[in-house]
Amino acid sequence: MSIIHYLASLLKSNFRNMKNIESRRQFLLKSAGILATTIAVAGLENKSYALTQPISQELLLLENTTFYLPLLPYEYGALEPHIDKLTMEIHHSKHHQSYVNNLNKALEGFDLSSIGGNSSLENLFKNMSKLPVSIRNNAGGHFNHSMFWTGMKANAGLTPLATLGEEINATFGSFETFKKLFTDAAMKRFGSGWTWLIRNAKGQLAICSTANQDNPLMVMEEMKENGKPILALDVWEHAYYLKNQNRRVEYINSWWNVVNWEAAESLFLASK
Ligand code: MN
Repeated sequence: MSIIHYLASLLKSNFRNMKNIESRRQFLLKSAGILATTIAVAGLENKSYALTQPISQELLLLENTTFYLPLLPYEYGALEPHIDKLTMEIHHSKHHQSYVNNLNKALEGFDLSSIGGNSSLENLFKNMSKLPVSIRNNAGGHFNHSMFWTGMKANAGLTPLATLGEEINATFGSFETFKKLFTDAAMKRFGSGWTWLIRNAKGQLAICSTANQDNPLMVMEEMKENGKPILALDVWEHAYYLKNQNRRVEYINSWWNVVNWEAAESLFLASK
């Protein structure tokens, strides 16, 4: 039994006895203080589990399980005025939920024996070139969005913390230059995709951009540069169209105000 499943079984019995959504949410958020800072639930009883920070690492290792939509660690309106409540609600409850549902469906019909029978996202990404596009799109969609949610917070600090901040200065010259390069990469992504800050195979920080729901963990010919993600920015129109319409740059500038630098720092430290 993995640690995640063990923690889930401890949480489950208390969770099951709670009748209303708000008390469940409060319980999960309180549990998060003890066990984790980020919570994932299905929204239905018997389907809760906790994810500890950094979310990408925990989520990557969950094995042979049904995937669930993680509950946001804040309210839909928490990132206002930078990211609006309605966009957050639709993005999370409709778009992300679809990736989760479609990932479960795609896995149901797929024999995993060719990749060691292991359905963890980490193993799926490592073996991406052997898997169908439905798994690629939806495993990517689930992971990328999970990372995106925990990579934002209300009342964010606006600048990187010490260790990552120093590495950004050493690599890009200054934080301002880094922001400009990252913003440019996000603006240049044609159509739908993501922009990333990663630690690449050489151990260096790098900015990269991926199409659709691909991410730099996916090992496949189409991936120009592999690495461990530290920051993730969704530049699909569904991430900003309701508020910013076609003005992607306005959305990117808003996003800089809500970047969770604590999460980025912890992913950076764990990426060594
Ligand atoms: Mn999205």
